[in-house]
Amino acid sequence: AKESGRNCFKFYAQEMGRRIEQYVEMENALRVALEQQQFEVYYQPKVNLCSGRFSGVEALVRWNHPQNGMVQPGSFISLAEKTGLIGPIGEWVLHTACVQARQWHDMGFDEMTVAVNLSAIQFDQQDVAALVTRILAETGLAPRHLELELTESMLMGDSDSMLAALKDIKAIGVTLTLDDFGTGYSSLAYLKRFPIDVIKIDRSFVRSITTDPNDASLTRTIVLMAKSLKMKTVAEGVETQGQLGFLNAIKCDDVQGFYFSKPVPAAALTEMLRHQQNR
Ligand code: C2E
Ligand code: CA
Ligand code: CA
Ligand code: CA
Repeated sequence: AKESGRNCFKFYAQEMGRRIEQYVEMENALRVALEQQQFEVYYQPKVNLCSGRFSGVEALVRWNHPQNGMVQPGSFISLAEKTGLIGPIGEWVLHTACVQARQWHDMGFDEMTVAVNLSAIQFDQQDVAALVTRILAETGLAPRHLELELTESMLMGDSDSMLAALKDIKAIGVTLTLDDFGTGYSSLAYLKRFPIDVIKIDRSFVRSITTDPNDASLTRTIVLMAKSLKMKTVAEGVETQGQLGFLNAIKCDDVQGFYFSKPVPAAALTEMLRHQQNR
């Protein structure tokens, strides 16, 4: 028994060693990716239900790995957060997205906004308001054309310093959106305390609004609540005509999802904008 116990430990240690090795390997690969500019920003349009036109895009990072091909953020963002690399990666995404939005404005698509996702770690690492100010100055993008997406979990924790940081960002004139609304530790207190402009209703509600009366009712209530708080609503993950019809009926402001477009490279989005202009 003693012998097998030792083997067990040996196996465990080997397994752990292998995991640490993999972790270090992935971390190095992320560093190389940053240096060699293997990241790419894709853009997914948002449609305004009043005008029926694109109101803006969400920037979503991709990792174009030389061997593994296009890697989705779900498989590297959490490692980037653990290693702190989300700081430089996030900064690169923000800069790239602002340069792109500015280009679209120069092409005549002058009301396009760009939304960029932020991680809590970025707020621990740096003064995000100062970063945003610098990048807007460098790219010449007007603050009202930039939107920053935050998640509910970021509003927990040390919320005093987060509140201060968000107030600084608001003062620049940038829009603040609460992403994945309804999934986290949703508390109405957050909406009261933090300077949020837009509520983004999570895909898990949108998915079943046409089949689950509870999700339909919750979604309707979120939209009504947002309106009474003078906040805008966006629904994410819209995939069907039925979902769109429901969101239109309850007067959700904007919609986003595969029904309109998957996230696409900048050039493909430019084509979509041109196409819409000629309609
Ligand atoms: P998210 O911010 O909630 O972004 C929406 C995700 O849903 C995207 O996945 C998008 O491709 C996907 N999606 C959009 N419409 C539909 C639809 O109709 N149906 C379905 N099934 N999915 C849809 P993606 O691009 O893989 O990103 C996953 C997550 O990675 C994002 O979730 C966000 O949390 C994170 N992420 C992406 N880019 C960045 C970034 O630059 N910085 C940070 N910190 N996080 C990022
Ligand atoms: Ca988002
Ligand atoms: Ca989301
Ligand atoms: Ca979501």
